[in-house]
Amino acid sequence: MTQKSSAPKLPPEKLEILRQLNEAFQGDRSLIAAYLKEFGWSKVVAPNIRLLKRKRAEAVATLDTLMTSAIDSLHESAPAVKDASPAGKDPYFRVAVTCPYCEAQFPADVLRSKSLVLMYNYKDSRFPLLVPEASSSMKGYRVEDPLLRDAIVCPRCLYASTQLGSFRSDSALSGSRGFIARLPQRKFPAVKRAVDAHRKDRESLLARELDFLPTPEDWLQKRTPALAAVAEALASDCHGLLAEFDSSCYYQAGEALLKRAKILNDLGRTDQERRALSASFNWFEKAYEYGKENAASIYLLGVIAFHLGDDRTARTWIGRILTDRGKIPGALRFRRYCEDLNEVIKTDLGLIDSDAETESSPET
Ligand SMILES: [Zn+2]
Repeated sequence: MTQKSSAPKLPPEKLEILRQLNEAFQGDRSLIAAYLKEFGWSKVVAPNIRLLKRKRAEAVATLDTLMTSAIDSLHESAPAVKDASPAGKDPYFRVAVTCPYCEAQFPADVLRSKSLVLMYNYKDSRFPLLVPEASSSMKGYRVEDPLLRDAIVCPRCLYASTQLGSFRSDSALSGSRGFIARLPQRKFPAVKRAVDAHRKDRESLLARELDFLPTPEDWLQKRTPALAAVAEALASDCHGLLAEFDSSCYYQAGEALLKRAKILNDLGRTDQERRALSASFNWFEKAYEYGKENAASIYLLGVIAFHLGDDRTARTWIGRILTDRGKIPGALRFRRYCEDLNEVIKTDLGLIDSDAETESSPET
């Protein structure tokens, strides 16, 4: 297929520069535009790319000073956010939170309980991966993807969580069951050391994925799907980090990656989606091992393995739910989904035919 007609009318050397920029900036048009604005069609492409990247990195260094004023202005502008835009009311409400690790204060958005009608269809509605999406809304709230503002990110140290209770806040919603409330005071210094020690890792994760430095406003009001995917990755890392102090964090680490996978799927970034799914599998295995959220972990391990193309592993996991005799808490809730998945896998593996032939070991 040669498509001469659709090719841009650029000389080959410019096309080559565009190709290099596209590769260096992973297709980010705003960065490519920023590059061309600064350096034009100069032939020294690689050094210029490094220069631009270094400038962006230097911006990180001055972030802390910029942060304070940016957060202040957010606080000031918070009441100005209109509750009744033509498209409907904001399904989120705003709370002031404090990062327990770096003490940054910033606003966070929390989904109102009766605002969105949530469905769980990703990646197959017969046996979904339990990631919420909004099908419609109630009471005049506008429909928004509930994953967009799902993870709360500290804009200063990038500590992130899908749970409001992982931060200090005056909201009653953060409640007594949140991580911070549950954590014994004597354990806090060890947790803080772990979170602080991984700050560099979080910064590298951000730099790997973004090539621009999100402002507090980007994290809050202007969060794009790409940024939401990063937020879930950060949240998963942080939940994983805290799991040795609170084993329910294993499940939350896996769950955040499932949400990330759904966003990447929506963005058409299927290779990254697959990596997120495999990584989430590892967290759910740990969640299963350490005994929290048993039935949901087992079910998800089965469905994730199936979507990664490993039917036999999938069957082993859902088999635990299908053969459960009331020992796994919550197993009943997943039984029908597991039955549906089992049928699909049996067809995939050609087991229905062989069962019919041998007529042995009838399955119930
Ligand atoms: Zn922080």
